[in-house]
Amino acid sequence: MVKLAEWQGKDVFRKYGVPLPRGTVARSADEAASAVRDGKVPLPCVVKAQVLAGGRGKGGAVRFATTAEEARTAAAAILAMEFKGEKVREVLLEEKLPIGRELYVSLTLDRTRRLPLMITSPHGGVEIESVADSEIDRQTVDPFPGLTGYEKRRAAQVLGISGPQARSLDRVLDSLWNVFQREDAELVEINPLAVVGDGLVALDAKVIIEDDAAFRHPEYAEIRDDRTELEEIAREKEIAFVQLDGNIGVIANGAGLTMATLDVLKELGGAPGVFLDLGGTDDPKKVTEAFLLMARARPASVFLNIFGGVTRCDTVAKGLVEAMGQVPERERFPLIARIRGNNEKEGIEILRAAGVTSVSDLRASAQAAVDAARGRP
Ligand code: GDP
Ligand code: MN
Repeated sequence: MVKLAEWQGKDVFRKYGVPLPRGTVARSADEAASAVRDGKVPLPCVVKAQVLAGGRGKGGAVRFATTAEEARTAAAAILAMEFKGEKVREVLLEEKLPIGRELYVSLTLDRTRRLPLMITSPHGGVEIESVADSEIDRQTVDPFPGLTGYEKRRAAQVLGISGPQARSLDRVLDSLWNVFQREDAELVEINPLAVVGDGLVALDAKVIIEDDAAFRHPEYAEIRDDRTELEEIAREKEIAFVQLDGNIGVIANGAGLTMATLDVLKELGGAPGVFLDLGGTDDPKKVTEAFLLMARARPASVFLNIFGGVTRCDTVAKGLVEAMGQVPERERFPLIARIRGNNEKEGIEILRAAGVTSVSDLRASAQAAVDAARGRP
């Protein structure tokens, strides 16, 4: 997922004409103070942590300042924070606007109906999850005409605005729709969309770009997201690799078998920590690479559950044995294997020669992986 930080989302909004407060980003307290002194940020101003987690307002990660010195102090305090486990590396400084009501609007996808969905609520400024369902309006949007007058009028009604403010809403929604569609977003959210005099201003921006459309948007390639360091390496090697909280490593092939393997381990009281999906590879080198990556995650035990189809059992076994020899002593772990299917006999033989037994029963083999991990960090 490509999640944009607020300031990055606002840069996108700006290109599409969404009204925004004036402001700039700072990476140190000094930078924050000079931004104010140089007039890049009018006073009074708001200083906001640039983290991906929400709830900054309540969590002390949004502060106000009336002088450059106050902006420095606020920036220093926020830059020293770790907000919901995320280090704050930058702050956004913006003019503090005299705001009236705070509204909520977003566009996302309704996956059940397979249509874009516009969500609006007159109760903005708080997380939408905490707003009563009766106060939230949802309208699906036909993607071909896009947002029409009808949807926009209903939004104005729901938000309780009319006259010049409704005309401002009209422009905001058109811009937001264009962002959603042209940037291949899976979510664009303005919370709060603030009433400022006769117009509306986006005080916050949340933009998530659809992963599958990333190839159309090289401009987002550099944007930090939720991937861990190992996940990042795996991505470059085109290995499907995910780190979770547990301590058992899982190597399987195909999304279905991988998920089922995680489920069985969980059911038996185990905690899957890393899983990788070999997919349909029949390249032993790729298997070796994947296995070495798994070793670097330091799992307590590894459960290898392979169904040989396109990926033949002997290919996997060969890659595995090759990799096992390359794992440094301190990264070794108990390995429990279950390989079935195409060229099963040959695969089992290769593993046996290397000292690994393949257990054909799913529960029994999963149990062995759970037992082996027990008592190990
Ligand atoms: P979040 O809590 O992480 O979603 O951060 P927001 O960007 O939504 O900011 C939280 C709250 O700070 C908003 O709901 C506003 O009440 C307040 N806030 C942010 N910018 C301004 C501003 O320019 N003027 C005023 N008066 N309040 C602001
Ligand atoms: Mn917000």
